[in-house]
Amino acid sequence: MNLILLGPPGAGKGTQAKLIEEKRGLKQLSTGDMLRGAVAQGTEMGKKAKAVMDRGELVSDDIVVSIIAERLDKPDVKKGFILDGFPRNQAQAEALDRMLDDKGLKLDAVIEMKVDDEALVERIAGRYTCAKCGKGYHDRFEKPKKAGVCDVCGSTEFVRRADDNEKTVRDRLQIYNKQTAPLVDYYGRTGVLHKVNGMADIAQVTRQIEDVLGRS
Ligand code: ADP
Ligand code: AMP
Repeated sequence: MNLILLGPPGAGKGTQAKLIEEKRGLKQLSTGDMLRGAVAQGTEMGKKAKAVMDRGELVSDDIVVSIIAERLDKPDVKKGFILDGFPRNQAQAEALDRMLDDKGLKLDAVIEMKVDDEALVERIAGRYTCAKCGKGYHDRFEKPKKAGVCDVCGSTEFVRRADDNEKTVRDRLQIYNKQTAPLVDYYGRTGVLHKVNGMADIAQVTRQIEDVLGRS
């Protein structure tokens, strides 16, 4: 099964993608995570992307399309994949269609996660992850069971993203509304678009998504 989670920054795409990955054995493909990996490793691509990402703008289509094209050829996506943060504009959506056609793959569901802007700002401001295993947390909405200790790997080191500050968040939301939100109409025409209420708590959003997947 191949899915897209479509929603603004902070909507909960990464949180839900990891839960679906665990439950269904599908592979999460987050272009944001891959780009942050390239920045951390100091690769040529990472060097090009860093300043753009820090400003909250979109990295060039060529870069993200080639990352995804390469990733879709790896054996670990054979059982299916969950695209998280890609595509982000019409050109990327069209490139994805061509790629899937070439590889004989199809999309089973595009799930739009709807969340109000103020809730997004609060979610992003409180977001942090385990520095060792990448498990995501939130200051208010998803705390580790034992304060300061990762539930998954026991690490006591956590990191916050450089672009998760209020100014950049508002710019990222504007870019989402202008460039990415029109993809709702794009996928609305394909018959595989489903909407879930992303304002619900994490477990309830998971249930809504499972419901959609059960019908797809
Ligand atoms: P995205 O991948 O869409 O940018 P994340 O999955 O990283 O968003 O979620 C942003 C932050 O909000 C994280 O700190 C996460 O723990 C928290 N979060 C995710 N889903 C919910 C939810 N349904 N209710 C409250 N907080 C949530
Ligand atoms: P995310 O982790 O999805 O919030 O993405 C973080 C940042 O990475 C974005 O603000 C962009 O700068 C960059 N990025 C991630 N995915 C894409 C994409 N599909 N197209 C362009 N830029 C992207």
